[in-house]
Amino acid sequence: MTVCVGVDIGGTKMRAGLVDRAGRIIDIKVASTPPSPEAVLGGLVELLAEVLENSESPVEGIGIGAAGLVDVRAGVVRYAPNLSYRDVPIVDVVSRKFGVATTLDNDATCAGYAEFRIGSGQGAEDMIMVTLGTGIGGGFIFGGHLYRGSQGFAAEIGHMVIDPSGPRCGCGQVGCWERLASGTALGEMAREAAALPGGARILAAADGQLERVRGESVMRAADEGDPVAKNLIEELGRNVGVGLANLANILDPERFVVGGGLIRLGEALLAPARAELLEKIEGAGYRPEVEVVAAELGDDAGVIGAALMVSSAL
Ligand SMILES: [Zn+2]
Repeated sequence: MTVCVGVDIGGTKMRAGLVDRAGRIIDIKVASTPPSPEAVLGGLVELLAEVLENSESPVEGIGIGAAGLVDVRAGVVRYAPNLSYRDVPIVDVVSRKFGVATTLDNDATCAGYAEFRIGSGQGAEDMIMVTLGTGIGGGFIFGGHLYRGSQGFAAEIGHMVIDPSGPRCGCGQVGCWERLASGTALGEMAREAAALPGGARILAAADGQLERVRGESVMRAADEGDPVAKNLIEELGRNVGVGLANLANILDPERFVVGGGLIRLGEALLAPARAELLEKIEGAGYRPEVEVVAAELGDDAGVIGAALMVSSAL
């Protein structure tokens, strides 16, 4: 059996898994993402050594997905606003250390590729992956192929400005989509609500400590039937829908596949997003509805996609 390793370097966690050619995970290891780029490289090498050591079959390639502007040809992460990466030469370091073919791509592009090949993007020739996590990432499949743009920087959809007078983003702009529709945005909305009398149940879900209120506190309060929490999730879903409408107007996809940590909210998030998309898209009554579906592969999508990408490049 031939296997490849897929790696997903996220804002809080790094995952590395052994994956077979069909995209099945054989083994996976998870570690915290260290705070500095230098420490990330060190932590990544350690994590990979552990995974490779456990493999019963020879590992043919290592595919890596990382957030931000990824120079696919050079194998360098040029810039990641949420992770303080600037010109990190990941492929060079990893391929020298382990001596196998190594590829690097954007993390959401990897997740999108996995969903397209074996998840809920199957059968769609024109699909947009949207990952709702700490920020918002994107992956484009057009005509059945990945679309990366001239430099590999395409699909940085989280930094599409949807409110020119909105809050400042890590990228330096204001009102970026991810400032209004990500997990971070939900956390901020939750802290605002929890400071008011109506937000008592959200506050209680964070053990009564305002500074500990996160997006998860809203999810917990909503699960218990709290109407304030449910309203926040609906507002977040509407904000998601605004970005989807912009993307649909520009790119005319057949399907949006929505993943990332926030997709645990399921229809509570997707239903208002669909409603907003329908309201904002051009000529809604004169075109087929754009599908908006939940991703299937969960937290492992990035690992699977990165491994499938390197194995298809071998
Ligand atoms: Zn931004």
